Amino acid sequence: MTSTIVWFRDDLRLADNPALRAALDSDEPVIGLYVLDEESPGIRPLGGAARWWLHHSLASLGERLRERGSTLVLRRGAAERVVSEMVRDAGATAVFWNRRYGGPEREIDTRIKTGLRDDGIEAQSFSGSLLHEPWEVKTGGGTHFSVFTPFWRACLALPAPRAPLPEPREIPGPGRAPASDALDEWGLLPTKPDWAEGLRETWEPGEPAARQRLREFLADDLGSYDRARDEPSAGATSLLSPRLRWGEISPYTVWHEAVEAGGGGRFLSELGWREFAWHTLFHFPDLAEKNLRREFDAFPWPRLKPSHLHAWERGRTGIPLVDAGMRELWHTGYMHNRVRMVTASFLIKNLLVDWRRGEEWFWDTLVDADAANNPFNWQWVAGSGADAAPYFRIFNPELQAKKFDPKSRYIDEWVPQDERVEPIVDLAESRKAALEAYEHVKRAPRG
Ligand code: FAD
Repeated sequence: MTSTIVWFRDDLRLADNPALRAALDSDEPVIGLYVLDEESPGIRPLGGAARWWLHHSLASLGERLRERGSTLVLRRGAAERVVSEMVRDAGATAVFWNRRYGGPEREIDTRIKTGLRDDGIEAQSFSGSLLHEPWEVKTGGGTHFSVFTPFWRACLALPAPRAPLPEPREIPGPGRAPASDALDEWGLLPTKPDWAEGLRETWEPGEPAARQRLREFLADDLGSYDRARDEPSAGATSLLSPRLRWGEISPYTVWHEAVEAGGGGRFLSELGWREFAWHTLFHFPDLAEKNLRREFDAFPWPRLKPSHLHAWERGRTGIPLVDAGMRELWHTGYMHNRVRMVTASFLIKNLLVDWRRGEEWFWDTLVDADAANNPFNWQWVAGSGADAAPYFRIFNPELQAKKFDPKSRYIDEWVPQDERVEPIVDLAESRKAALEAYEHVKRAPRG
């Protein structure tokens, strides 16, 4: 008996899944595969919060595949080896997947595709995670974009994103499924200690909850999004970022349903920033390590003060809005966008800590941490990135709190009065030191 494998990666869903659709069209039994690849060179190990999310999202996907007649096989190891073993074990004649856009992932996928085809196995990839392929959006001169507004204008001038594919009701599986690891064996959940209580209280990973969240957001919050999206206590944003990160819902579904709900351009343009971050990563695979604007290599980062970094991580800097954000992050695996900008700016420009240290902490603690959005946004705040905030725009966290949390609701929720500590730095002095350090960048040749 032959079969077709759908290799799930950052697309843990059944609806609007082009690879799954193609497998169903092949009229062969369909087997789902997920590979936990912590071995292939260049693959960045998942952070702790991401591993927690992945565990639960895979559990949900496996159940949904089973309910419809198929199965999800879990295997661990270097993807190149595992996929070819799976093809052999399943007697597969085809492997389908939705594309990934990180540098090492692309290299792996290309090698796998070539290897499979050499062996006479059909291998096809599809577009499922981005509205526009990064290479399709081009400047008049045929190159990539480095500024958001013309990038987004170019995206909007392309044919509209295709309509989402319906969710299959039945997914015929094989008579006997190839052996699978048990999800629990992968140890994705924290045990000693189990720090995931706040995550459990906050989230329900999986496609059904993602769909429900989209419906709720469109019905209740889309109308006030433009006005209230910057207020961390307003609950006005979609909270779809981990859903999009793990592909529990596709950007096509979000796009079309938001447009149908009368969705404002502002919300759609946030999806555009996500596209822009991936466009940037596609063209600069080293985004998490290297300054995009190379003149920032001249920035004289002082020697790291571990106590400062630690205070920031744990929400004990004495700056209430910063501490509130860092505590929200630690507890829920999420932080509101405005507060992400403020906490990142504080680390980089008041504590003078290299943006890469902050990016690493977010990578480990965010449930939505992804290879493009996280480093892209850190570089945006640092001033070294694409279409970035100018370095000298240093957020004043006290003024930000007055403006966006005027009744102190957000701060009070996360930092009780009796836990407030003295500021570890003086905001005005540290701002001055940052601007002095920036003089080195101004003098460096532009890269
Ligand atoms: P909404 O306001 O409802 O926006 C809808 C969707 O648009 C989001 O789900 C997200 O996919 C996308 N989006 C919104 N803002 C941005 C943005 N600035 N850049 C790229 N995409 C955006 N977002 C991540 O998804 N993963 C990350 O690892 C990540 N790291 C960040 C680090 C820093 C320092 C900063 C300043 C921002 C980061 N963001 C990241 C962007 C943004 O903060 C989150 O996407 C947003 O807060 C998610 O909440 P939401 O889904 O309610 O957003």
